[in-house]
Amino acid sequence: MNRRNPLAGVFAKYFATSTVTETELVTPVMRRIRLVADEPITFPYTPGQHVRIQLNDPLSVYGILRPSETLRTYTIWDFDPGQRAIELRVHRYDGDGIGRKWAEAVRPGEPVTFWWPQGDFFTRDAPYHLFVGEETASAAFGPMLRALDGSARVYGVLESESAEHDLPMPGPHRLRRVYRAGAPAASSRKLLAAVADLDLPGEPGAAYLAGEARTCQLVRDHLVAERGWPRTSIKVKPFWTPGKRGLH
Ligand SMILES: Cc1cc2nc3c(=O)[nH]c(=O)nc-3n(C[C@H](O)[C@H](O)[C@H](O)COP(=O)(O)OP(=O)(O)OC[C@H]3O[C@@H](n4cnc5c(N)ncnc54)[C@H](O)[C@@H]3O)c2cc1C
Repeated sequence: MNRRNPLAGVFAKYFATSTVTETELVTPVMRRIRLVADEPITFPYTPGQHVRIQLNDPLSVYGILRPSETLRTYTIWDFDPGQRAIELRVHRYDGDGIGRKWAEAVRPGEPVTFWWPQGDFFTRDAPYHLFVGEETASAAFGPMLRALDGSARVYGVLESESAEHDLPMPGPHRLRRVYRAGAPAASSRKLLAAVADLDLPGEPGAAYLAGEARTCQLVRDHLVAERGWPRTSIKVKPFWTPGKRGLH
């Protein structure tokens, strides 16, 4: 699609064309999608970074008129430059955004354009690490946890709808699980209560809060107000929130 757009040449170094080679459900609400790029993938990458999947061409008239209906952001779950492949884990939440519809409908053999990895949501050196979020956050925490040394001290809480919705996480580090059981994921008191219940070391570590925006805020406020963490020790990455389209 981009190759026919005269503007595409200007931006060519920022995106890759690829083909979907595999899709499968890894939980009832999480789809694994594997993309193999047409050309070797040479971009620098740190686990936790994301790509932007092009669902409508942002350089087309449609895209210029409706910029919020063009790109959707997904973390690179796995990166295999030798195979020119990236894998995603995409949440099939109950809704009808363009990302959600794509995740449902996409099949092997289909072309996909994605924009280069971006973002600064990755781990940094710290006495210990704290991960908090729901299903979409799990999709980002997987590669971040995999990249941590086995000796790293890791704490955290992952929320999902029920145990069968738990995304299996790679690596030796285990996070506490809590279940919404029908409660909303937005402003999740369940997740907040589980974080408040964690037995954390006395000094601050590095926190990574992702997923629904208002829940992220609640957890950040808890860490700052109740546990005395400086804001600089807390990375917050809101992934979605009711009423907003295509956060990135
Ligand atoms: C840096 C970053 C990394 C991300 N990584 C991943 C990832 O690896 N896997 C993943 O699945 N998602 C990830 N997301 C979240 C994903 O981009 C959003 O869920 C996105 O909104 C989906 O696009 P959409 O077109 O389906 O919905 P949109 O059009 O963007 O949103 C429409 C409405 O749908 C609802 N909605 C959107 N997402 C959700 C959700 N997850 N649960 C419940 N309701 C929702 C909201 O009410 C929203 O107002 C990431 C987001 C960011 C910013």
